[in-house]
Amino acid sequence: MEYDVIVVGAGPAGLSAAYQAKQLNADLSVCVVEKGSEVGAHLLSGAVFEPRALNELIPNWKELGAPLHTEVSADRIYLLKGAEAATQVPGFAVPKTMHNKGNFIISLGNLCRWLAEQCENIGVEIFPGFAAAEILYNESGAVYGIATGDMGIGRDGTKKDTFMPGMELHAPITLFAEGARGHLGKQLIERFKLDKDRDPQHYGLGIKEIWKIPEAQHQPGLVVHTAGWPLRESNSHGGGFLYHLEDRQVAVGLITDLSYSNPHLSPFDEFQRYKHHPRIAEHLAGGERLSYGARAICKGGLQSQPKMVFPGGVLIGDDAGTLNFAKIKGNHTAMKSGMIAAECLVNAYAAREAEERSPIELTQYSEQYRASWAYEELHAQRNFGPAQHRWGNFWGSAYAFFDINICNGHVPWTLRDPIADHSTLKPANECKPIAYPKPDGKLSFDKLSSVYLSNTNHEEDQPAHLTLRDATLPIRENLPIFDEPAQRYCPAGVYEVVTEGDGQPRFQINAQNCVHCKTCDIKDPAQNIVWVTPEGGGGPNYPNM
Ligand SMILES: Cc1cc2nc3c(=O)[nH]c(=O)nc-3n(C[C@H](O)[C@H](O)[C@H](O)COP(=O)(O)OP(=O)(O)OC[C@H]3O[C@@H](n4cnc5c(N)ncnc54)[C@H](O)[C@@H]3O)c2cc1C
Ligand code: SF4
Repeated sequence: MEYDVIVVGAGPAGLSAAYQAKQLNADLSVCVVEKGSEVGAHLLSGAVFEPRALNELIPNWKELGAPLHTEVSADRIYLLKGAEAATQVPGFAVPKTMHNKGNFIISLGNLCRWLAEQCENIGVEIFPGFAAAEILYNESGAVYGIATGDMGIGRDGTKKDTFMPGMELHAPITLFAEGARGHLGKQLIERFKLDKDRDPQHYGLGIKEIWKIPEAQHQPGLVVHTAGWPLRESNSHGGGFLYHLEDRQVAVGLITDLSYSNPHLSPFDEFQRYKHHPRIAEHLAGGERLSYGARAICKGGLQSQPKMVFPGGVLIGDDAGTLNFAKIKGNHTAMKSGMIAAECLVNAYAAREAEERSPIELTQYSEQYRASWAYEELHAQRNFGPAQHRWGNFWGSAYAFFDINICNGHVPWTLRDPIADHSTLKPANECKPIAYPKPDGKLSFDKLSSVYLSNTNHEEDQPAHLTLRDATLPIRENLPIFDEPAQRYCPAGVYEVVTEGDGQPRFQINAQNCVHCKTCDIKDPAQNIVWVTPEGGGGPNYPNM
């Protein structure tokens, strides 16, 4: 199928790009492929939403019914000093990037469902349930589109009765908007050496739940952020969040930096015990857990951003790591990066003959991006993430206060963070084991009942989408050295080491449980696990994450 523009991924970056391209030139044919069963099914964010990009893209969003219902009404930051103790950080001492006046607490899934409707109203074609599985290159090496995955292939690789071959979609320009650790984005970065001279991308794993709480505890618009306990006990970094949305709902989550070094750490169990801290439990007590999910978040900032342009395509949003970690916000910058790509491609089409179909290289893009407010804010706050890694949450935040609040980000130095997250684990026998408490079934739960609430589903009879470059390595190396950390870092219980009748350990992959967070692809110390797209439509089915 021939299009003028292909977009891979219906998140905020992809949909904003599609909308802007069609809005600026209604004659362009624009299509979006999305691997989730519907738009929003795979989206998971906090989310405190800064509406700046949306104001530019669709200024009358209020009239059009955008689901921004809850304006931030109060902002609290706590330093959790232990399982019981906490100190509230006074407003004046908080890095100003963490203030949320004028922002909204939203469900990203619902925002994107609405954005998709706006796109379709102006003629964008959206194909949910279709994963872009392969990049198409022409004879000169430029990208000329993507192929969606075949459907109906059995576990053993044979075609089933339901077999449907994948489709090839061709276009002079393809926008890759797969979000953090995009699986095609990763291949493009490698092929075109887009990360040359950049720091490696850094990630956190965000685990989130939505609760319905008693009316008396509900404070719509309240934003709570925390640092310190429980991650500090293992010298790990990250932070928690709790947001009161509309309709008695509360979003609660913990982001564990994937630079942690203790292989005994389990981000899932850290999150479960986090909810028992009195400053968090007081919001959730007596409530009911409605949903569960997990997703990696990009946090390397500008120093880790790859070059975004290559012949025939552009990486936008978190496929290129546009998130501003000093704000823990990436939706507005992802949208803006997509809008800039759309503006550039519309100009590129205006400058060529109508029948010309060769791949476009958006040479203007880098300059336009550098001139944008998205780049400006990332530049001003570029030292936040590296400072947190170097000096921990407390001293890192103190440094951020100096850099961001006092110097407005105009310091003459740029901190680097050159160690990739998969290289930070220490051998298990050098680290303190962590004894996690048993879930109480009221505030904390086990993994399997949690995964159940993600509504994840994959056709069982298909090739595993979690592939191993070397199938023997988990047992041969990861188990003796790191006690196979995949058993603990996967928030969906996909990886297990089981002992067979012969007493030999075996590495088992329960691929159906996967919630597409991408942590295994990031954290596996040998980079042996490679996440590839399963059959389209497989994966979580989040209602409003
Ligand atoms: C726990 C957590 C909390 C966060 N909190 C906030 C917050 O409070 N405020 C904020 O602004 N930001 C927050 N963020 C960050 C924000 O969610 C991201 O920056 C943003 O979602 C990035 O947008 P994106 O469009 O680049 O990617 P995504 O939102 O990840 O969207 C990518 C889309 O592409 C699809 N896709 C991926 N690969 C393929 C493929 N091969 N084929 C077809 N489809 C594909 C995915 O299914 C998905 O729908 C948070 C993130 C996390 C994980
Ligand atoms: S298998 Fe990998 S991508 Fe899937 S849930 Fe586990 S860690 Fe995340």
